[in-house]
Amino acid sequence: MSVITRFAPSPTGYLHIGGLRTALFNYLYAKSNGGKFLLRIEDTDLQRNSQEATDAIIKAFEWTGLSYDGDVVYQSQRFEIYKQYIQQLLDEGKAYYCYMTKEELDALREEQRANKLPPRYDNRYRDFKGTPPDGIDPVVRIKTPLEGVIAFEDGVKGRIEIAAKEVDDFIIARSDGTPTYNFVVAIDDALMGVTDVIRGDDHTTNTPKQIVVYEALGFQIPKFYHVPMILNPEGKKLSKRDGATDVMEYKEMGYLPEALLNFLVRLGWSSGDQEIFSMQEMLALFSPYELNKSASCYNQSKLDWLNNHYIREMDNQKLRMMLEEYGCEVKMEGDKLEVLFEALKERNYTLVAFANGVREVLEAPKSYDAKMQSRLSLEIIENLKKFIGGLTEGLGVSELEEKSKAFMSQYSLKAGEFLQPLRLALLGKGGGIGMAETIFVLGIQECHHRIKMLEKISFAK
Ligand code: GLU
Repeated sequence: MSVITRFAPSPTGYLHIGGLRTALFNYLYAKSNGGKFLLRIEDTDLQRNSQEATDAIIKAFEWTGLSYDGDVVYQSQRFEIYKQYIQQLLDEGKAYYCYMTKEELDALREEQRANKLPPRYDNRYRDFKGTPPDGIDPVVRIKTPLEGVIAFEDGVKGRIEIAAKEVDDFIIARSDGTPTYNFVVAIDDALMGVTDVIRGDDHTTNTPKQIVVYEALGFQIPKFYHVPMILNPEGKKLSKRDGATDVMEYKEMGYLPEALLNFLVRLGWSSGDQEIFSMQEMLALFSPYELNKSASCYNQSKLDWLNNHYIREMDNQKLRMMLEEYGCEVKMEGDKLEVLFEALKERNYTLVAFANGVREVLEAPKSYDAKMQSRLSLEIIENLKKFIGGLTEGLGVSELEEKSKAFMSQYSLKAGEFLQPLRLALLGKGGGIGMAETIFVLGIQECHHRIKMLEKISFAK
């Protein structure tokens, strides 16, 4: 039987990185087995769901490059289907109308609380044969087994068992006829042919209820894998305070989808000591049976490190195109582009930082490091001009390096008297890419111009 998995987000906001991780696990398992990965939007809660949120999820998905098979399934378009199954269960006596009013239910709960009993529906309409009370729109409840256990073999957590009597005859249709969450999830997974459900372990308690639905309808029960959460470094639930949780925010911050997916696959899964996984490697190595039983910990510096790795690996022409999305157009070609990009790849973790790095080199400084500027003298500026004036166009990076070393030794200059001021003139600050690379990229004329600018600003009468 081929593997069919799905990702089933509820469109209440953006695509959360925890959701993307679940989607990735499902995607990898299906695709590595020649199976299908489906996308279902769980938008039955018309109050909380919006088209905007659905669009945002689909857009984020597109950005990650995880492609789903077939059309997106929208639960909001399947009410007729759910209705038919509710009717079928009513007809077969596996579900029943319950006419209990809210007041009666509250009174029952109150009584149970007073007797220190857990709140539970008392099955009063389960075998009701009488005349239903007037003026009440009933809910539909499904009959859950009265004894025994509801059990399943979780692919991550092992055998999970719950006493059947712990599971109430739960509502499958509200009094307005709309179906409830656990009911529609089970129906859809069955009708979509889903064989394996990998999802967050916040759903573990839903699974026994869904199994009741599968069994009542004679559907094949899929294999479940409940994945522990991603926690923050303090061991608490990951929240906005720990950094971004919205997938598209990672894009805005300049992370690459490859890096984010690589980062997420390692949150809850590993293969030896390997940290870097191409999509091919993930597909070859991933197994949901190797998912960790314990929660994983979000680690920002690991993500930065991975992102830098993928930026370094990227072809420079592709990188140039990607930078355009961050408002950075690089017109440079050939060796200059290569030298600039290779130098920036060393030190920039995100595309946003990379784009800023490009601007820092290509745009003349708009301001200067005040402390460095205060140490300048006219003599220092003269030395800089002399050095640049002695260069010829066409020198390579290592030749420029040699020349600057030779110049410093010829005039007995220390770094603070030559390299630092040169940095200040060309980039306006202490850090940044190497000076030889900067001169190579900018060309002699532009360097000369920048030195004169610094002179003018620092020593204007
Ligand atoms: N819609 C659910 C959620 O967003 C997922 C349901 C499932 O995976 O079974 O958490």
